[in-house]
Amino acid sequence: MYICVDFDGTIVDHCFPDIGAPVPGAIDWLKRFQKAGAVIILFTMRSDSRKYGNVLSAAVDYLEKNGIKLFGVNENPDQAEWTSSPKPYGDLYIDDAAIGCPLIHPEGFYRPCVDWEAVGKMVNAKLGI
Ligand SMILES: [Mg+2]
Repeated sequence: MYICVDFDGTIVDHCFPDIGAPVPGAIDWLKRFQKAGAVIILFTMRSDSRKYGNVLSAAVDYLEKNGIKLFGVNENPDQAEWTSSPKPYGDLYIDDAAIGCPLIHPEGFYRPCVDWEAVGKMVNAKLGI
């Protein structure tokens, strides 16, 4: 199973171009999904640029340092043989901007973020774990 996951507001608080505080449960749930055999694709608007610096690389480093092994970054390497679409194929997309995504607003956070307790259970039901 391919899980595409956003970064700002989903894994960390919205502090772009900086990296915000960790969203409660995000890393733990992503690790659980990996353990259950899912692969994680980072699907983010971040890009390394002259204007903001290496903000995509910083997000990738953050995830790797926290034990998340990325299968792809803004791409699903498995889809090249059947589509040239720039949208990475995913079985699931987790994004704070997705309609219907459960959100929480922890104290001190700039904006609401993904409610991983709720999302984790929804994904578990799909993964069968
Ligand atoms: Mg977001």
